[in-house]
Amino acid sequence: MKNTYFLPLGGTGEIGMNLNLYGYGEDSHSETDWIMVDCGVTFSQAGLPGVDLQMPDPTFLASQKDNLKGVILTHAHEDHIGAMPFIWPYFNCPIYTTQFTASLLIEKFEEHNIDYDGKINILKEGDVINIASFEIKAIGLTHSIPEMNALLIKSPSANIFHTGDWKIDHNPVVGNGFNSKGLLGFDDLRIDALVCDSTNAIVPGRSGSELDVKDSLDKIIGGIEGRIFLSTFASNVARLYSVAETAEKHDRHVVLSGRGMHRIVNAAKAVGILDGLPEFVDEEDAGYLPAEKTLILCTGSQGEHRAALSKIANDRHQHLVAEKGDTVIFSSKVIPGNEAGILNLQNNFAKKGVNIITGKDEFVHVSGHPCEDELIEMFNLIKPKAVIPVHGEFRHLTANAALAEANGIKNSLVIENGTIIKISDKGVSVDSEVSSGRLHKDGKIIVYDYESPSIERSKISHTGLIVVSVVMVNNKVKGKPVVKTFGLPEFDKEGISLIDWVNQALSNVFGSKNKGGNLESKIRNSVVRQIKGVWGKRPKVEIIFH
Ligand SMILES: [Zn+2]
Ligand SMILES: [Zn+2]
Repeated sequence: MKNTYFLPLGGTGEIGMNLNLYGYGEDSHSETDWIMVDCGVTFSQAGLPGVDLQMPDPTFLASQKDNLKGVILTHAHEDHIGAMPFIWPYFNCPIYTTQFTASLLIEKFEEHNIDYDGKINILKEGDVINIASFEIKAIGLTHSIPEMNALLIKSPSANIFHTGDWKIDHNPVVGNGFNSKGLLGFDDLRIDALVCDSTNAIVPGRSGSELDVKDSLDKIIGGIEGRIFLSTFASNVARLYSVAETAEKHDRHVVLSGRGMHRIVNAAKAVGILDGLPEFVDEEDAGYLPAEKTLILCTGSQGEHRAALSKIANDRHQHLVAEKGDTVIFSSKVIPGNEAGILNLQNNFAKKGVNIITGKDEFVHVSGHPCEDELIEMFNLIKPKAVIPVHGEFRHLTANAALAEANGIKNSLVIENGTIIKISDKGVSVDSEVSSGRLHKDGKIIVYDYESPSIERSKISHTGLIVVSVVMVNNKVKGKPVVKTFGLPEFDKEGISLIDWVNQALSNVFGSKNKGGNLESKIRNSVVRQIKGVWGKRPKVEIIFH
């Protein structure tokens, strides 16, 4: 008998790197056709030095590579499309997504020299496509980026509503408002599982509307005299639109700064989203504008060192300067993990006498994800038999499931990446577990997380490295070994230098009467013991024999 399966390989039990699979077939481990929904990355945290990006490990799927019949991308956020250049070429199956998302995806593919010719199919809101045994309908929902589509996925044995990222915004500034009418058609339709965004499931109330942010920015911008720097997530095209319209109203020219801003604006213009706004000013020309007539829209709200805002704060920007009396507005949230960088950035602006406005001072940002009341509204619109929370850490997933339960949906399952769920009109149940994990992008190389060199790099970054080079002739040490140290403090303890402490440890080994045992480990143990004694830390020691 054939079954319908759901398998998250990324984004369930964690924030970021979403990768979801839906399958229909006899055996989930071999004879099932799969479709992939989203293929995203997560930006690396501290503790993994040198890892640029992390993404889901698709090993399970790779074992049945030909069974992947298509990839559908719900929207263009990095946590939904960022891994495509690294994972998709291996499968090379058809891709379905909207024009806006496709234009950003194509840019990524071209950057990585990936041949995607004839593989991208443009999907519009309301379109119905058939892939293998699935019939899939794209249903537009509001979010913090244009052209986000939820998916109504029908297999011969189950109906599933996959929300993607969403919120309820009746006035999103750009694009159509939340269309509950489009979802009301669900009244007659049995939905066996609602696979639902959990990001804000622990936040009471509602996420708020982009139009309200626009009104608030209007008041704030109208009351500022000097130059304004406004930083937001570049992908929030509605926010860019609101800021541009508000700036025009208050007789300010908008300067775009940062590669991310230009990328998104180009993609939005290509699909007509930013029509009707005055042209943006290039940053090279910003110096000609009077301060009170300037608003600079820039990247870097998370304190990213290489982004425009950080360069401006540190006087490293080629064209833009911030001066006393200017104002910087952080029209964004603080992504957990970025606190220190953001505070550092704000301190640098404060030193210059620049005024700082954040979400703590004024209403300058709304989230793109549903809070409790919006989730309840969705449950009531869709009336699913079961909820499978995704897109969140465990506490978000459990809160989403508890909310569903409290609202009469008794059959919900909290799972993490790697759990295959069977979905039918009888309900949802665990089928099996498969391997899941992360891949690290380390420069141009992709490695499994469990063999990532970042673990060793992290160790060396704490303890430093000592290299000992030993020449051996006829099994005897010849001459004096050469010692180099990396990342250790140059201590001079008891009148003995660091190198001499190492040399002393080597003499203890070479001068010993006991010639048995492994010379390499004897040297390592002796050096580590000696340096631990004087420094208090155990360095990494490498020995090279010639
Ligand atoms: Zn997302
Ligand atoms: Zn998103």
